Amino acid sequence: MPAAQRKGFDVVVIGAGVFGIWAAFKLHMAGLRVAVVEAVGAAHSGASSGGESRVTRCGYGEKDIYSEWAWRSLGEWQALSARAGLPIFHPTGVLWVHAQPNELVQSSARVLSRMNIPFSLLPAPELRRRFPVMRVGSEEAGFFEPAGGALMARRAVQSLAAELRAKGVAFLSGAVAPIRQEQGRQGALAAVTTKGGERIEAEQFVCACGPWLDRVCPDAMAKRLFVTRQEVFYFSLEDGATGGLPVWADLPFYGFPSLEGRGFKVANDTHGPQMDPDTADRRASTAGELAARDFLARRFPSLAKAPLSQAEVCQYENSSDGHLVIDRHPGLDNVWVVGCGSGHGFKHGPAVGSHVAELVTGKAKPREPFLIATKQRQQDRAVQ
Ligand SMILES: Cc1cc2nc3c(=O)[nH]c(=O)nc-3n(C[C@H](O)[C@H](O)[C@H](O)COP(=O)(O)OP(=O)(O)OC[C@H]3O[C@@H](n4cnc5c(N)ncnc54)[C@H](O)[C@@H]3O)c2cc1C
Repeated sequence: MPAAQRKGFDVVVIGAGVFGIWAAFKLHMAGLRVAVVEAVGAAHSGASSGGESRVTRCGYGEKDIYSEWAWRSLGEWQALSARAGLPIFHPTGVLWVHAQPNELVQSSARVLSRMNIPFSLLPAPELRRRFPVMRVGSEEAGFFEPAGGALMARRAVQSLAAELRAKGVAFLSGAVAPIRQEQGRQGALAAVTTKGGERIEAEQFVCACGPWLDRVCPDAMAKRLFVTRQEVFYFSLEDGATGGLPVWADLPFYGFPSLEGRGFKVANDTHGPQMDPDTADRRASTAGELAARDFLARRFPSLAKAPLSQAEVCQYENSSDGHLVIDRHPGLDNVWVVGCGSGHGFKHGPAVGSHVAELVTGKAKPREPFLIATKQRQQDRAVQ
């Protein structure tokens, strides 16, 4: 697009991950002229949205804002799946296996009952009957959400990006240079500049730069973003080897039945060491694979020796408490800071996009628990 046309946008969204793309979608649907600026490509393999699959579930203990957002978002993911004509959502259900009693399960059950979101509590014999591939102890039980399942992450973001392009939303390539408070005039930013020197003007800016958010918005996010290394393993299985096993969690491990033949996915939700998203070695470790196999031997003994088919290293971009950040930049009134999915943000993409559109159009105000001021410089994870 020639430079002359790079003016006159109502909103420029920086970053085409799940949050940026849904924000762009909702802003476009609100009638605004939107451009998306992306450094590498929508849901590229180094981005946090670039993985194959993400869990969507509504059980969040007492953190009912996420139950509500996940439930609301699910309908939009299903609609996107139908529009794209591709499986973006696999309705496998989500099973959380836990020792009894479990406070998080009890509070999730209370919240989901109140919101009329379906779930069932499965005692050990029922778990064994329905999912014979799992070894289940007599003191254990399951919390099952039949409406949950797997979102095909990269495909979802790229499908929505394609839809936006077809609707005429501008997609610009380039890495936006850090936005500094001093660039503002009377507290507002007139334009962002790419590292290649191009200037892109707009009335408002949404920064949704995932694990790079602290680099693009250093005044808002420096030392408030904790980027951790997360390893993911896929094991080859024969078709049908796990029966009707849904997406499952047995914290800190969680995983997926083989989706579209990719393999049985196992990952550890414990935060790994901090990593630099640009320079980290993205080869998974042998120690990580052995820990996954140890887990398989305990919970899915028949799968413990399955051949490793693939492994990935991704990153969580965590806030101190695990809550998302969706707030006005502290020094620039027309800049919005959106991110910190903290290992659970993907599913909320549609609801985050709606909230961003309400903020940008003045229909809502920044709210707890997403405020930058509530984020600390030390991690103390409060959201599972
Ligand atoms: C292994 C793993 C498992 C996860 N599991 C789940 C799950 O089961 N369920 C769930 O709901 N969530 C899950 N998550 C979390 C979720 O995937 C992330 O929180 C979410 O994808 C983050 O999206 P984002 O848009 O903030 O960031 P990203 O997807 O990283 O997008 C940011 C974009 O900004 C661009 N960008 C950065 N800097 C600039 C710049 N200067 N100029 C222009 N563009 C720039 C980047 O290139 C990138 O494309 C998981 C995450 C990981 C890593």
